Amino acid sequence: MNDDNLRVKNMLRHSDNLTPKERRRAMAAVKGRDTTPERRVASALRAIGVRFRRQAEDLPGHPDFVLLGMPVALFVQGCFWHAHGCRSETPRTNRAYWARKLSLNRRRDRRVRRALNRLGWTVVFVWECRLATRQQAAITVTRALARVSKTGHARPRRLRRKD
Ligand SMILES: [Zn+2]
Repeated sequence: MNDDNLRVKNMLRHSDNLTPKERRRAMAAVKGRDTTPERRVASALRAIGVRFRRQAEDLPGHPDFVLLGMPVALFVQGCFWHAHGCRSETPRTNRAYWARKLSLNRRRDRRVRRALNRLGWTVVFVWECRLATRQQAAITVTRALARVSKTGHARPRRLRRKD
């Protein structure tokens, strides 16, 4: 577990302004590697018969999954850490720290995508909020891969045009 995760854990432990449900969700979000969203993606891929390799440490950004026989790298993105903006949950303390931290994370995501594209990989980001249940995960993963295969090995649509 890295320093940031520890920081979040401490923050959560000492903050009284979260409901038990929010706290549970936030704690689950910092568990790291074997998060439930990742397991859901893995079983969705298996269900649709796509073979994959997990945690490609040899590639830029260490994609969570790379598909076998298809140059597709897939990242499961935590909505908080990668500033999805799907819900407002900026911590109430140290706002400046978090704003900077999250914007650096987004910038790194864009760098990683470009680096992988240059190596011939198509990058797919799957957001945690779209993986809430097994069914939703199956739909999300199927759609993402359909988009990729429709465009051949071409780049998927960019998530944001801001960079
Ligand atoms: Zn989200």
